[in-house]
Amino acid sequence: MAEYTPMIQQYLQIKAQYKDAFLFFRLGDFYELFFEDAVKAAKELEITLTKREGGSEQPIPMCGVPYHSAEVYIAQLIEKGYKIAICEQMEDPKQAKGVVRREVVQVITPGTVMSQSMIDEKQNNFISAITPCHDETYGLATSDLSTGENYVTSVSGGIDALIHEVSAMRIKEIILPTTLSNDDKNELVKRLNIAVSYEDEINISENFQPIIEGLREEKYLHTFGRLLNYLLRTQKRSLDHLQPVEIVKQNEYMKIDFFSKRNLELVTTIRKQGKKGSLAWLLDETVTSMGSRQLVRWIERPLIDRGQIEKRQEMVHSLVEHFFQREEIRQLLKGIYDLERLAGKISFGNVNARELVQLKKSLAQIPELIRLCHELDNHYMNELIAEIPPFEPLTAKLEKALQDDPPISIKEGGIIRDGYNDKLDEYRKISINGKDWLKELELKEKQETGIKSLKIGFNRVFGYYIEVTKANLHLLPEGRYERKQTLTNAERFITPELKEMEMKILQAEESLIDLEYDLFIQLREEIKGYIPDLQLLAKKVSEIDVLQSFAFVSNDNHYVRPMFNDEKVIIQNGRHPVVEKVLDDAHYVENDIYMDDEREILLITGPNMSGKSTYMRQLALTVIMAQIGCFVPAEEASLPIFDQVFTRIGAADDLISGQSTFMVEMLETKYAIEHATKDSLILLDEIGRGTSTYDGMALAHAIIEYIHNEIGAKTLFSTHYHELTVLENELSRLKNVHVKAVEEEGRVVFLHKVLDGSADESYGIHVAQLAELPDNLIKRAQTILKELEDKNHSHENIAATNQLSLFPLEEATEKRKEDNKIVDEVASLDLLSMTPIDAMNALYQLHEKA
Ligand code: ADP
Repeated sequence: MAEYTPMIQQYLQIKAQYKDAFLFFRLGDFYELFFEDAVKAAKELEITLTKREGGSEQPIPMCGVPYHSAEVYIAQLIEKGYKIAICEQMEDPKQAKGVVRREVVQVITPGTVMSQSMIDEKQNNFISAITPCHDETYGLATSDLSTGENYVTSVSGGIDALIHEVSAMRIKEIILPTTLSNDDKNELVKRLNIAVSYEDEINISENFQPIIEGLREEKYLHTFGRLLNYLLRTQKRSLDHLQPVEIVKQNEYMKIDFFSKRNLELVTTIRKQGKKGSLAWLLDETVTSMGSRQLVRWIERPLIDRGQIEKRQEMVHSLVEHFFQREEIRQLLKGIYDLERLAGKISFGNVNARELVQLKKSLAQIPELIRLCHELDNHYMNELIAEIPPFEPLTAKLEKALQDDPPISIKEGGIIRDGYNDKLDEYRKISINGKDWLKELELKEKQETGIKSLKIGFNRVFGYYIEVTKANLHLLPEGRYERKQTLTNAERFITPELKEMEMKILQAEESLIDLEYDLFIQLREEIKGYIPDLQLLAKKVSEIDVLQSFAFVSNDNHYVRPMFNDEKVIIQNGRHPVVEKVLDDAHYVENDIYMDDEREILLITGPNMSGKSTYMRQLALTVIMAQIGCFVPAEEASLPIFDQVFTRIGAADDLISGQSTFMVEMLETKYAIEHATKDSLILLDEIGRGTSTYDGMALAHAIIEYIHNEIGAKTLFSTHYHELTVLENELSRLKNVHVKAVEEEGRVVFLHKVLDGSADESYGIHVAQLAELPDNLIKRAQTILKELEDKNHSHENIAATNQLSLFPLEEATEKRKEDNKIVDEVASLDLLSMTPIDAMNALYQLHEKA
């Protein structure tokens, strides 16, 4: 080390403390990176890698980014999951003796970014700490540093459940104890694919006692302590805006596991990974970003307490009824900025004057908002707004202090209003008087010299000057004017009295700017005291915003307020809220759903593409919408309150672990039957499709029996195994329903209508016809079908009594298998993972063999 220059030695010392981060080392106007950091960053950021002499034999690899545009580069690295330690110069290099003192002032990580350009304003940016506990559970503590929210919860069900929870909350970074078992560590790192950090300090310092008042259990205290200490260690500031920690009891909300959230496309769609097409997209008519984030939290955590649900419903109802007030409320909310994140910035000490003007403007909306909410004349709404703290003193203060349109920079003045501070007013007077004096001087000089075009101007190099065009130079008297600058057409001069005034003006302006800066910083500090109130306000405003959004959407889409009962699902003329919205001109076919203790499991048969899975999703979304307090897409709805929703729908690949489709299907099913209770809703779509016919059918059969006999959860089970419909005779609480299709002129038309009883024909061939397979192929298929059906009929009576007879096609298929090995080969193709070219090649090979 001794061989390196002192600065590089300093670099290495600091870097040693931040091994897992890129060290952005401030050097004048640049952040420089050295050694391996430089090599890696140059590649990731696509910037030039250079070298620098550093005392060693080999030059040191180096790359750098200008400090004023560093944010762009930091954002790129964060996006890729890296951490960045920002190391600043802590003294003026001109004044430093020896190497400039440098310190890391903040570590920016994917879970702690605050900058607007790096986080989605409509989503939370969560970071979580994890603590494994003795009772086989995990403590999970979660913060959003930008908004100051804090949650703790306890996750049971092993590492799988933990991974579910972390994925479902879209957490950006996790903090683990270094003592975590290697198995757990590997599993988390591999399956979550997010930034991982370590922290062992769990003690919570005295000044955070107020926010952990509600926490008693050691598991919560330790986990939150780990999170807090990590945040303090990386952010290196006081974090005054952290809000009291909320305990999320998993059993106070409807549980929706990660698979189901994804399958039901609650917040993002599966295919595009975007918001459009999701439930959150449909319901988001919020007008503030706080509201948007609150909506997502509500959707992910539907309520299970009937009283709480009905409270929301009441408010939505009253907002639906009061069209005028609702519109006014929406308009007012539009004028409210992101108070939660403003509070975060105030705490972080990086709020600027323009943002404080946003705060002022937002607060100015509140009295009118409260008045309008009162007009709704709703008991719960009145309760909600009663909790909004008074803001008059703060509003008055901001009003008095801030100019209407201050600059972004807080070092250029133009921030503080006249009349706020005497000294400031005095400096302003000098500056203004000085400028008046200059105008008078200009006039006087014009008269004395007789030069009409003479003018007084200012530039940064020469200060104030008198400018005379070359043509008029001869009119200037000798002596008094000192030449300063020559231009093509004019000369610039100064006079002693001009210089004297200049000094006064510039001094006043400098003091003015300094004082404005000081006053602004004072104001910012004072406002810190209002952070908890602002956060409470933000919470209430975001609730009002989500409620008005529910009312807006419910009214717009003709939703109805659902009732609740103890065990029945009664939906009349229900619709799938998203499909109905995206069907362009086609008309959505409404469907009833009826379930009670005699109709606990509905077995849905019907051809592919007839609408089975839409029907199932429709129920799940309706249930979730009902339990978050929104109205639902139906003419009439009465529902029990479900404790959990489980789904196995669609054949999307597994994003977390890259498992095969069938394996995912089985894992999701396992998760459902392990966790479901009689109060749960289970949706299983085409279970068993991913494996061979017999396997699949047998599994489907066994799963249905298990749910029927062991769980008793309300279940929709769709299948194209027509053979399963015989289960209606065996299982008393299972009923067959089917999606109706009719034949018109030898073609199938799907009516998307779900009716009792089983589908009476298989329409697979008709679907093939729709897809325009060759005519002679279709004819051949029809002949084969006829042969099979004839065979099938001879087995019909055995079907209901004999297990084996579930598979009436067996014999025929066996025979065909022998005849034709190609069938096996086709069956063994993994179509979902093949590219079109692979498929073409496979087809070609089969063709060769045929
Ligand atoms: P399945 O699960 O039976 O294969 P889907 O539920 O995926 O069928 O539905 C296939 C298509 O039919 C959907 O993309 C949707 O556009 C349309 N569809 C389904 N149900 C309805 C309905 N009730 N009204 C109108 N269109 C529907």
